[in-house]
Formats: sequence, structure tokens, C-alpha cells
Amino acid sequence: MNAATAASSTLAATTTGATVDLVGVIKDYSGQRALNGIDLAIAPGEFVALLGPSGCGKTTALRALSGLEHVDGGSISIDGVDVVDTPVNRRDIGMVFQSYSLFPHMTSLQNVEFGLKMRKVRADERKTRALEALEMVGLGDMGHRYAHQLSGGQQQRIALARALVTRPRVLLLDEPLSALDAKVRVQLRDEIRRIQTDLGITTLFVTHDQEEALAVADRVAVMREGRIEQIGTPEQLYGSPATPFVANFVGLSNRVPAELIGGTVHAYGVQLALLGDRQPDGAVTAFVRPEDITFSAEGLDATVTASSFLGSLRRTRATLLDGTELTVQHEVDIHPQIGEKVRLRFTGRPVSAGARS
Ligand code: ATP
Repeated sequence: MNAATAASSTLAATTTGATVDLVGVIKDYSGQRALNGIDLAIAPGEFVALLGPSGCGKTTALRALSGLEHVDGGSISIDGVDVVDTPVNRRDIGMVFQSYSLFPHMTSLQNVEFGLKMRKVRADERKTRALEALEMVGLGDMGHRYAHQLSGGQQQRIALARALVTRPRVLLLDEPLSALDAKVRVQLRDEIRRIQTDLGITTLFVTHDQEEALAVADRVAVMREGRIEQIGTPEQLYGSPATPFVANFVGLSNRVPAELIGGTVHAYGVQLALLGDRQPDGAVTAFVRPEDITFSAEGLDATVTASSFLGSLRRTRATLLDGTELTVQHEVDIHPQIGEKVRLRFTGRPVSAGARS
């Protein structure tokens, strides 16, 4: 067992994730509705990501749960107790924000100790617990450093230690990785998940990055215009998007002109089963994943316009005779050239579809 794992198991012994329930939560900002009836139930120890485009209400939902924002309707409960009128410091929640927000005049250790000091924990216990939290984030030897002596990733680890040292029942993370470069982002994201799993702490993580959400969360809630459009496991969202918005937002999709006839999608002479709810017949856009299109001897004529090597796979773009552009995901040993004539075929997997815009 390494130091970080040992430290987190000591914390885990005293940390138990809470249930979180948001029911019909509404928030207005001077007449403008930011949250339009949010229903979200999070199980103890679950890691849920709130995913959605800018302005859809992710941060507002997180701030409502934390108590930083007062709500205009609905209920919020933690472990079955309504906390709508409970102030921030009584909700037993740890928070990490996008900006590291460490106190610049305090060392890392003092930053981590801060929450315990506010809770009037004795100095010796404070120090022991803060050191343990620093070990947990892999920075046990950096307690003496000030924020300006730490990298962005290290500062964010200190912020995480500071959020967890008080042994909160819920952890809220608001875009904690977006200021970091790509490699550190992936490392820290995996580390957050490891620590969260070790501690069993109920976690809500806000991000606009779908790859990040799908990579770490047990379930992802896709938000749109103040509502949760769909919530499910990453596999459910990717494989069975309930709406065109989710299909378009989660993962890559080709937009294929099609007709809906008797509940089945007809595209270029091929019939594809429809995912999600039944919709009225008519012209639609079908959302077809790049891995659901393949090269074929028989198929739609197309001309290659681009092809990118992505390590373990390749994505090739090709234009059909009617100008529709399709992206195909395929093995790296097929290497189409720009301008090459190819034939494409749908593999036949079900697709989502929405009214053509
Ligand atoms: P982003 O990814 O850009 O941070 P978000 O999904 O977190 O976006 P919110 O910050 O929750 O979105 O904002 C939701 C809506 O509420 C937006 O229309 C925003 O302009 C508005 N809003 C947020 N905070 C305030 C505020 N303090 N006063 C007025 N309007 C606000």
C-alpha cells in the first residue's frame, strides 16, 4: 500500500457518502430562469457528472446544492434532510472550483488546515489530519510551499485536500480541471476518481467536456436550458441517447438527412431502427455514429476529403454525391487518400433522430 492509499483509507474510515436529492429545483435570476425544475437523485458514494453547454445551468445547480445560491422553488435534501434553509457551512459539503482559490499568504498545509481551524479542531489534530489529506493527494512533502511555488495541477490537488480534510458527506467539483493542460487534466481526473472511490464520498462534478464526463462518472446528467435532458451511465448515453440533443452533444455523430416512416428511419434506401421515443413521421436528421458507418464494395459513392490518424483508430471524412459529409471510424491499416473514391454503408445499428432544422 502506498502512502496516498494508506492516507485515503484512514480518511475513508470516517467518511460516508450521503444521498442527495434535488426535486423540482427552480432558480431565477432577475426574471430569467436558470434552473427549470431539476430532478436529480444521487446515491451514497456515487460520482455524477453534470454535463452541458455553456449557460445551461450546471454551475447554478451545483451552487444551489452547496447553499451558495438560494433557490426559488423545489427541495434539496441531503440524507433525507431538507437543507434549503441550511447555510453553506452547515451543509457538510466540500467544494473545489476551477480557479484554485488557495489563500496566497498561507502555506499548503495552512490552506488545508483552514477548514479545521474554522471548526475549532485542536492544533495537533488539525496538523495530523491536514498532513494525512496532503498525503492522500500525493503532496505530503509540499506542505511548506505557497501557491506561487506550485504548478496548477499541484494547486488543484491542495484545493482537493482542503475540500476533503473536513470529511464532508458530499464533494462538489466545478470544472476543477479546465485550467490545466491536457496531460495533467487526465492524470488529475483519474486521481480524483481514485480518491473519491476510496473515500466513498458522494460527488457531483460539473464539466462541459463530454470526454471527461464519460471517462470518470458513474452516471452523467446532460443538461439543457435549465433542465436535465437525460441521465444515465456513460454507456447508456452514448449507445441510447434519448434525444437528438444528447446524441449530438455526447460523442461524435454524423447528421444524416432521413425520413421517419412508421417509426423507422429511412436514409439513403436503408432502414434503421429509431432510438428513444416514437416520433411523428416526416423529414428528420438522423444521428449516426462514425463507428456505425463502414467502407464497403456496395454502398454510397463518396469522395474522401480528410483522414486523421488517432493512434488506435482512424477517422476519415468523405462527401456523398449530394454534398452530405460523413465521418467513418475504422482500423488504422485502412489508409484512404484525399480525393479517393470510396463506398460507404450504414452498419444498421439503431440511430437517434430529430426534426430537420
Ligand atoms: P458555463 O459552462 O459557461 O459555466 P453553466 O452551465 O455553468 O455555464 P450557469 O453559470 O449555471 O451555466 O448559468 C446559467 C444561466 O444563468 C446563464 O444564462 C447565466 O447567464 C445565468 N446566470 C448565472 N449566474 C447569474 C447571476 N449571478 N446573475 C444573473 N444571471 C446569472
